[in-house]
Amino acid sequence: MMSDDKIVSYLEGQVPAYLQLLQKFVELESPSFEHKEASDKCSRFLEETFGGLGFRMQRLPQESCGDHVYGELGEGPKGILFVGHYDTVYPVGTLKTMPFKVEDGKAFGPGVLDMKGGIIMAYFAIKALQELNLMPGKTIGVFFNGDEETGSFHSSDLIVEKARQYEAVFVMEPGVNDLGALKTSRSGRGTYTLIAHGKAAHSGSNPHLAISPLMEVARQLLFLEQWDKELEDVTLAPTAIRGGEPETCMIPETAQLTMDVRYKTRETSQQVHQQIMALKALGPGIQLEVQGKIDKPVMVADPKLFQKAVELGKSCGLEVKGVPIGGGSDGNFTSDAGVPTLDGLGTSGEFLHNPNEYIHIDHIARRTALVAKLLQSL
Ligand SMILES: [Zn+2]
Repeated sequence: MMSDDKIVSYLEGQVPAYLQLLQKFVELESPSFEHKEASDKCSRFLEETFGGLGFRMQRLPQESCGDHVYGELGEGPKGILFVGHYDTVYPVGTLKTMPFKVEDGKAFGPGVLDMKGGIIMAYFAIKALQELNLMPGKTIGVFFNGDEETGSFHSSDLIVEKARQYEAVFVMEPGVNDLGALKTSRSGRGTYTLIAHGKAAHSGSNPHLAISPLMEVARQLLFLEQWDKELEDVTLAPTAIRGGEPETCMIPETAQLTMDVRYKTRETSQQVHQQIMALKALGPGIQLEVQGKIDKPVMVADPKLFQKAVELGKSCGLEVKGVPIGGGSDGNFTSDAGVPTLDGLGTSGEFLHNPNEYIHIDHIARRTALVAKLLQSL
């Protein structure tokens, strides 16, 4: 049954074209760092595709990952900046075992859900407003990066710099396996290394002269295990320990422990970050050095934007709801910079970063209509 809403019904008619364009995009494989040439074919596709809508596109050359692309459409004050990443977690050649295909109302392929499908949704949301003569009198921006899956270390500053010029950011990352879900919070992340400095000595002739940094790492591990249990909105997970050489008869001078820390709220992130940086040695004679930082701040969706999405969702046949999520996105950076951000506006589906990754085809028109209406209303 076709919707009587003109944006929804226009987009329902565009689903075959959406799938065609998505297929082209998915078939340009684009891992984050493995193959710059392949990734640049993909960024060129975005340049051409959004250039076709009238965007003035600009390439931001990168040395090791695919080039980022930025574009502006229209005139007037800067309204919405669409943010998306075109890199995927899949190496070149994955298409052989995981080809793009449409089956049982779902589309499959590397990156369909995370997040090539969402970027193509942004394209069709803008196209719908153009075709129906509903474009807002503001400049619309797009920023597509090629290194998000590895932490956006070469793009987050650029994204924030652009985002600050706009009223709001729409992150076209996927929602979840639900027609109306958006992502209203994302955990922040920090990586820390504790380096224990002790005293080296021969492990056979005079072990009593050593101050073992390995033992200190062990003490810290047990301490962290206990602290992790006591913390409510934070998880501390040791991910690597290093120290000593198995072939030598030597108690080393240093040893280190790295941990991945996830923060659910901004307040606890600041507090626990300080506490981690101030950790002290637990054993006598050890100097403990702590290195680390919050790599990704906590993301909180803008409440006004979210409320607007709830209201506009009704006219698209969507019951919009917010879902908190552990994983981060570039929305963490823009939200932390104080730019109103709405995330998870992309496709719905399941199994991102997994060979069974898919999107729901019958959700595309309504979710894209929501994006179009939000764009129009701001
Ligand atoms: Zn993603």
